[in-house]
Amino acid sequence: MPHRMADQQWEAQNGSLSPDEARARGLCWCCSGNGALYSAHGGERITAPCPERCDNGKARR
Ligand SMILES: [Zn+2]
Repeated sequence: MPHRMADQQWEAQNGSLSPDEARARGLCWCCSGNGALYSAHGGERITAPCPERCDNGKARR
């Protein structure tokens, strides 16, 4: 499956921060400061707006 690694690389954009780490940095816990969530299935890449409706990845105050 040539698409497999590309899917993983796409999803790697979500970052590796845990929700607690993201909060500690003033970032949205849900999207780790990206403002969006990335997922991919079989080479189809999906960018979804953060469901927390954060301010471009910044934690809401
Ligand atoms: Zn967010």
